[in-house]
Amino acid sequence: MGTSIETLTNETVELLQQLIRNQCVNEGTPESGHEDSNAILLRDELDGLGVDFEMIEVLPGRSSLVARYSGTDADAPDLCLMGHTDVVPVSPDGWNNDPFGGELITDSNGVSEVWGRGAVDMLNLTASMAVAFREIVRSGKRYPGDIIYFAVADEEAGGIYGAKPIVEDYWDLVRCDYVLTEYGGTPSFGRDGTSVLMTTGEKQSAGRRLTIHGTPGHGSMPYATDNALIKAAEIVARLKAFDVAPNLDEMFADRVKALGLDEATENRLLDPAQIDDALAQLPPGLARNLHSCCHMSFSPNMLRSGDKFNTVPDKATLSVDIRILPGETQDDVDKYLAEIIGPELLPSVDITRVFDEMPDGTPFSSTETPMWDAIGDSVRVAYPDAKVIPSLVTGGTDARFFRRRGVEAYGAGLLSNKVPLAEFLNRFHGHNERIDTESLQLTTQLWLDICERLWK
Ligand SMILES: [Zn+2]
Repeated sequence: MGTSIETLTNETVELLQQLIRNQCVNEGTPESGHEDSNAILLRDELDGLGVDFEMIEVLPGRSSLVARYSGTDADAPDLCLMGHTDVVPVSPDGWNNDPFGGELITDSNGVSEVWGRGAVDMLNLTASMAVAFREIVRSGKRYPGDIIYFAVADEEAGGIYGAKPIVEDYWDLVRCDYVLTEYGGTPSFGRDGTSVLMTTGEKQSAGRRLTIHGTPGHGSMPYATDNALIKAAEIVARLKAFDVAPNLDEMFADRVKALGLDEATENRLLDPAQIDDALAQLPPGLARNLHSCCHMSFSPNMLRSGDKFNTVPDKATLSVDIRILPGETQDDVDKYLAEIIGPELLPSVDITRVFDEMPDGTPFSSTETPMWDAIGDSVRVAYPDAKVIPSLVTGGTDARFFRRRGVEAYGAGLLSNKVPLAEFLNRFHGHNERIDTESLQLTTQLWLDICERLWK
């Protein structure tokens, strides 16, 4: 007999609290992250079940954990549940509660939430996947395919010490046909009924470093100097002003329609002539997400120049985070950049591709798979009439390394109706990150339901 969902939810809550308290903060440096503590915690949770597991230490202190529970049929497709164990840094001043306390707090509406960095990105999924995986092993239930639990380090800094080398060099350990990972499952209640977004693809990084050249001079005589910083500032201003044409495809339309907005707003968001005005009227978190879902985006994030107070700098470097939509190419980015920088400044600028690792036109995972059907049927256990809609995630996730291998990867999860999509998106890397226990229950149940349906 299986364990009750109430007991399993308590296990997910407790495990999530511990994962948060371990503070595996990834600052993007090799010596940060310390994912060992979470990998060891999760290993201990699985220890003694008789399931095979392996710790992979790409760099000291940065272990990932892989456990595989064999199925009964070597030809059946294998499913990997992948959750990252690291989190991004916090600005503690912006928080109402300890960002690493992992406290369970009940608000004035009676909603209980686990607070802390990682509560939605994505220790909630990592914890619930471990609990579901353990429950399946513990119950002795065998499915045709293998189930792999993969708790991976370094997702938040590009997977360099996690998924990337592990998928490349340890394929035998993580080999699978389907991956479920972050994130999806926010229900929206629109005019056309309930819909739930699940991720089938993601924007691709096309970051560029711009090196801007000038001529050195004395800071006491700035008149008509060739100051690299001033040129860089001009480029920043042009990046901000540049109007990229929106790509209002069917997937974008589905996303808009799932939001439950009034019909007039919906129509304006789907009209290239009106979308800018419509976005300006929306809550900023939602507008930001929608904008990114239909535009190539340019965010100038780092600018460095000069090394002396009294010297006109002859060099500035500007790092621009650029994300492209499916169908757009690295060459498109360079074409746009040349246009933005303009013919008079372009000869002073060297452009370096910082991120161009993915092949152009990175594929979406198919919705014509048994897995997609299993996700939909499992979602409808909780939301009986829900339409499950494929969607795009604006950031990169470790799913891309698997998609590159031909694996169908989906961003999944299942949330309660307590958190609107816009509010949920704001919690990613934001202040006051938290997740309600009902969502943790729905997500834990989702993984179990999917396993029941996938191999039917
Ligand atoms: Zn994440």
